[in-house]
Amino acid sequence: MSQNMFVLAEIRHGALRHVSFEAIAAAKKLTTSGKVTAVLLGEKVERFTELLFQYGADRVIIAEHPDLDAYRPEAYKQALLQIIEEERPDGFLFAHTSQGRDLAPRIAASLKSGLISDVVKLELVDDRVVFTRPIYSGKAFEEKIIEEGMIMATIRPNNIQAAESDPSRSGEIKTVYPDIKDFHTTIKDIVEKTTSGVDLTEANIVVAGGRGVKSKDGFHPLQELADVLGAAVGASRGACDADYCDYSLQIGQTGKVVTPDLYIACGISGAIQHVAGMSNSKVIVAINKDPEAPIFSIADYGIVGDLFEVLPVLTEECRKV
Ligand code: FAD
Repeated sequence: MSQNMFVLAEIRHGALRHVSFEAIAAAKKLTTSGKVTAVLLGEKVERFTELLFQYGADRVIIAEHPDLDAYRPEAYKQALLQIIEEERPDGFLFAHTSQGRDLAPRIAASLKSGLISDVVKLELVDDRVVFTRPIYSGKAFEEKIIEEGMIMATIRPNNIQAAESDPSRSGEIKTVYPDIKDFHTTIKDIVEKTTSGVDLTEANIVVAGGRGVKSKDGFHPLQELADVLGAAVGASRGACDADYCDYSLQIGQTGKVVTPDLYIACGISGAIQHVAGMSNSKVIVAINKDPEAPIFSIADYGIVGDLFEVLPVLTEECRKV
C-alpha cells in the first residue's frame, strides 16, 4: 500500500471524462492515507477542480501552459515528468483512453517503471493490491501484483465504481508552470468525429450497427433509438469497411473497447474480433435475422428478426417509458 497516489484528470470536449472519477476511486483503494492528488493539464482549467474534489480528490495540481491546451504527447510528458520529479508520488493512474494508452507508457518508460494497462478491477488481498486485466481479447483475465517501484496503471472506463459526488468536499489547489520545450508537433486543427454527443467509450448504453444495416442511411433507425435512450452509436468493422459509418465508431479488437450497462447489437454477426470490444457489457441485446448468428451465444436477450422492422417498434416502446 502507498501513501501518495496521483491521477491524471482527463479533459475531453471541454469536460472532465467520467473515467477520471473512476481512477480517483481506484487510487483511493491504493493508499493507506486515503489521500489522492488529481493532476489537471491545460489552460484555464481551474473550473474543473470543484468536480474533482466532489468525486474524492483531496488535492489538485494544475499545470498551466499554452502548449497543454490540447493533447500533445511530448508536452504532456514533459509536464508530468516535472510534476513527478517534484512530488515523488508512489503511484500514478491514467484512464485507459486513447490519450492514456498513449501517454502512460511514455511516462512509465521514461521512469523505467512497469505499467499495468487496462485494469478492470482492484482488490486488496493479504495487504497487497491485486490488479485484474483482460487478456486474449477478453477471453481470460489475469491478476497482477506490483512488487516494487512506482505503481503505474491505466483504468478501463465503466468498470470501477466512482465515488458518490459530495458537493461539500474541498481540498488544496497547487498551480505549477512547467517548462515545456523542444517538441516537434503543431496542432493545426482538431476535427471531431462523432454522431452524437455521447462518448462511445464512456456511454452507459451503446446501439451498434453492423453490415446488416446495409447503407449509411441504415444507421438512422439506430440513431433514433440512441437519441431516445441517451445512447452512443457504435459499429462493427464490417460496417466501417463498407463505408456505412466512420472508423471512429468501430468497436472491437482493433477499435474501441466499450463496457456499457446495455449493448444493443443490430445486424452484427458476432465475430470474435468484434466481441473482444464489447463482451464485458453488462447486458447484451442482439437483433439479427439469422438465428444461427454467433452474437446470440453471448447475448442476454436475442431478437431474431429484421432490424429495420424491430428497431422502430423498440424505439416507439422506449419513447413511452
Ligand atoms: P457480418 O459478419 O457480415 O454480419 C452481418 C450480420 O448482419 C449477419 O449476421 C446477418 O445475419 C445480419 N443481418 C443482415 N441483414 C440484417 C437485417 N436486415 N436485420 C438483422 N440482421 C441482419 N471487426 C470488428 O467489428 N471490430 C474489430 O475491431 C475488428 N478487428 C479485426 C481485426 C482483424 C485482424 C481481423 C482479421 C478482423 C477484424 N474484424 C473486426 C472483422 C471481423 O472479423 C468481422 O469481419 C466483422 O466484425 C464483421 O462485421 P459484421 O458483423 O458487421 O458483418
